[in-house]
Amino acid sequence: MAQKTITINGQKIEPGQSKTVILNSYELHTKTKIEIPVHVIHSKEKGPSVLLCAGMHGEETNGIEIIRKIISRDEVENLKCGTLVAIPVINVVSFLYGSRDLPDGRDLNRCFPGTKSGSLGSRIAYDLMKHIVPIIDFGFDFHTGGAKINNYPQLRCVFDFPDNVALAERFSTSLIIDSTYRDGTFRKEASKKGKPILVYEGGESMRFDYLAINEGVNGCLRLMRSYDMIDFDLPHNPSVKIKKDTWIRANCSGLFHMNANNGAHVRKGDLLGVICNPFGEAEDKIVSPTNGYIVGINNQPVVNQGDALIHLGIDEE
Ligand SMILES: [Zn+2]
Repeated sequence: MAQKTITINGQKIEPGQSKTVILNSYELHTKTKIEIPVHVIHSKEKGPSVLLCAGMHGEETNGIEIIRKIISRDEVENLKCGTLVAIPVINVVSFLYGSRDLPDGRDLNRCFPGTKSGSLGSRIAYDLMKHIVPIIDFGFDFHTGGAKINNYPQLRCVFDFPDNVALAERFSTSLIIDSTYRDGTFRKEASKKGKPILVYEGGESMRFDYLAINEGVNGCLRLMRSYDMIDFDLPHNPSVKIKKDTWIRANCSGLFHMNANNGAHVRKGDLLGVICNPFGEAEDKIVSPTNGYIVGINNQPVVNQGDALIHLGIDEE
């Protein structure tokens, strides 16, 4: 069955066309115009319409690289069916100066659903909800850990929603983590419109992490292959589903050394790390409180009492 023409903010994309359009143009107080490019590959044959977006936080570069790699591939450029809507850098201004937040200090991923005449973040959120959400069936929003937090490649979705779990299984990243909605996020507001968006987390901000990039690229290819959008053979990647998670925090300040690898399965009582003081003494041994998977680690060499150190995904008992 043939696809129909789609329109993004007045710009038409015909079936069989591959085109870069502009989500909208935003004027800063310097009179500088900021435009957000949207790359659309709209095949002739009917199939799913998939959103891949990254750079919601301007310093989270792994997702930007994942989408760059995906849209550079021949088999993706010539989709057999369906549509790919790719926004490699949503938050163009913050990406330009390597910041998580917008120039006014707002977090774009707390601005949803946004308003037409609100702050810059609110207007970008509004345009995504108005022009992108209606033309997609589902999407993946690529993020990384924050400053010095390295997230092992993982998808975050709501286990109570079967459509979320089914998409995560098609993408099939190593870890799939149950994660409830937060107010103001793209994920929550898109879900209210019946469009599941899963969040991919991999690596840390301002650093390419090739494990996270490769897992993200392979997940996208696996997903598109599962819908026959592309011909591509990738081995199945078994996933671990994690329903509960907890952070291990620093009992004292000092120099933090990890003893275990990110992504590793650990058992209750395993030594995961140690905090020392600069005068040669070990201050605190960090022992796993439960069986589980290390899903994220703090890479800072010096930590303060109370800092989040190790993110543990707890095994289903
Ligand atoms: Zn983020």
